[in-house]
Amino acid sequence: MSQLTELHVDIDARVASIRENTADWLCGKGCDSCCKRLAEVPQLTVAEWNLLREGLAGLAADHLQAISRKIAAVANSTARPVVCPLLDHATGACPVYLHRPVACRTYGFYMQRDLGLFCRDIEKQVADGALPDVVWGNHDAIDRRLAGMGESRPLTEWFADWIRDGLPSDQ
Ligand code: SF4
Ligand code: SF4
Repeated sequence: MSQLTELHVDIDARVASIRENTADWLCGKGCDSCCKRLAEVPQLTVAEWNLLREGLAGLAADHLQAISRKIAAVANSTARPVVCPLLDHATGACPVYLHRPVACRTYGFYMQRDLGLFCRDIEKQVADGALPDVVWGNHDAIDRRLAGMGESRPLTEWFADWIRDGLPSDQ
């Protein structure tokens, strides 16, 4: 099993445990607020990019072209927060869900020492005392494991290198 797959298994276990122990958990398909308010362009290790690239390569040609235009727009913009260029706005769903980066898997379920929980909707529930028994994942530990998985670059750079000679459907 690859290091990334091992990490996914551990994250899935933490997420499943939180969901099992907490009825009506907020995160679900169609809740896309976190995908629309990224602090920065998604940052991926090479292992994460290789997986994401597989997901992108499996999309229909016109869909990938539309994503390519959105990624170029994000690359040329300094606006913050960043709306993920992969997000399907019509459905609020992630078109590469099975191939998504680690940060997207941990969001809402993991806490970072200096950055808190990330999701303001869940933070509000915490502030209201609604989630007293949740055992949050430790994102600092996730970051340490990611650091051992090779070079890390913004999605925009990985994508630009990938399509330097044209989109897969053009080749
Ligand atoms: S992390 Fe927050 S915004 Fe994202 S799916 Fe969960 S509840 Fe929705
Ligand atoms: S890759 Fe998918 S899950 Fe992650 S921010 Fe983008 S649309 Fe959301």
